[in-house]
Amino acid sequence: MCADTTHPETLVLHAGYRSDPATGAVAVPIYQTTSYQFNDTQHAENLFALKEFGNIYTRIMNPTQDVLEQRVAALEGGVAALALASGQAASMFAVTNLCRAGDNFVSSTDLYGGTWNLFANTLKDFGIECRFVDPTDPEAFAKATDDKTRCYYAETLPNPKLNVFPIKEVADIGRKLGVPLIMDNTAAPILCRPLDHGAAIVMYSTTKYIGGHGTSIGGMLVDGGNFDWEAGGDKFPTLNQPDPSYHGAVWTEAVKPLGPIAFIIRARVVLLRDVGAATTPTNAFQTIQGLETLPLRMERHCQNAQKVTDYLSGHAKVTKVIYPSLQDGETRRRADAYMNGGYGGLVGFELKGGKEAGRKFIDSLEMLFHVANIGDARSLAIHPASTTHSQLSAEEQIQTGVTDGYVRLSIGIEHIDDIIADIDQALKSA
Ligand code: PLP
Repeated sequence: MCADTTHPETLVLHAGYRSDPATGAVAVPIYQTTSYQFNDTQHAENLFALKEFGNIYTRIMNPTQDVLEQRVAALEGGVAALALASGQAASMFAVTNLCRAGDNFVSSTDLYGGTWNLFANTLKDFGIECRFVDPTDPEAFAKATDDKTRCYYAETLPNPKLNVFPIKEVADIGRKLGVPLIMDNTAAPILCRPLDHGAAIVMYSTTKYIGGHGTSIGGMLVDGGNFDWEAGGDKFPTLNQPDPSYHGAVWTEAVKPLGPIAFIIRARVVLLRDVGAATTPTNAFQTIQGLETLPLRMERHCQNAQKVTDYLSGHAKVTKVIYPSLQDGETRRRADAYMNGGYGGLVGFELKGGKEAGRKFIDSLEMLFHVANIGDARSLAIHPASTTHSQLSAEEQIQTGVTDGYVRLSIGIEHIDDIIADIDQALKSA
């Protein structure tokens, strides 16, 4: 590889790995092992004391996982990454790597439902308060901030509204107030690099577009290495105060010879060590297979989704189509500012006949899969009002943008004629 390339198409195939030093294998091997033989006691001592980097135990690191991490870090323009068991583990780690009981963080209301539950209920039980704010007003983040606020959190392209988040606006506010922005970029890999716009940490559910084939649950954290944790002093006790679980190490100081990786090192050697939400070598391998074709797939996802949007926009049974290219004003400006090369594979639409029509549409699909997933190479569909959002009140429906007749599509990479033909025949029954 041209050592300093920034082309995503090349990075996903070459970053972090040339060939297996033991066998010359070109495909990244699945290192299906729990443990690694130490050279001698000095070597073991150095590894445990982090004086030397190397493999100790697969709960904390693994060579297959390492290649995946290096490739995603390179793709995002970050300094290091950490692969985890799921996207849920990644969002949990992102927040709890900075927040302790008694602290708070500010999050956009436009979130995946699982993240919402984690923040509103489980983290609340841990004594961490999530302050939800409307992302259309970036200043709302500033207003919700106090001296116990440890981070901001948002999704780049949240569904169902598909309003691209004001990344730079909120990142800038955070940098003025000393608060890092964590971006969930699950729905927009390749299309958006949140670190370029001022975010400090990027997180993924790799289960979706990065894995891309619906085979493996996984999560990822990427450290931008661009946030001055030390300047925050007492605001970041997890990184700036002695860690009793690691011989009193102060992470921002301990990592200095290695680079600005305090956040990701602590997430690995403290949270992953203690919580154990490790990915598996096989899932890391499957995710690498997906990653290697991600730029090509994203291009096709975007092209197909735009064509589905055009088709739906002219349909008599459809009252509204939701896709970033159809938005206007500030929402559209943000989509154009932060999405590069397309607006993603997710499309929403509302059917005239409400809930009944939404259900009939889903039940009539022959090719599109009816699943609670997004980002598969195959096209997928769901009727949120009878599934993921079935418990919502009328007021919550308005807030989340999920009405009775709303259908979410995750448009895949099949031939566009076949995708539209299936949607067309299902609409006839709706
Ligand atoms: N973030 C977003 C935007 C998601 O869509 C999802 C899953 O649907 C998650 C996080 C959670 O990821 P996982 O299912 O891999 O735990």
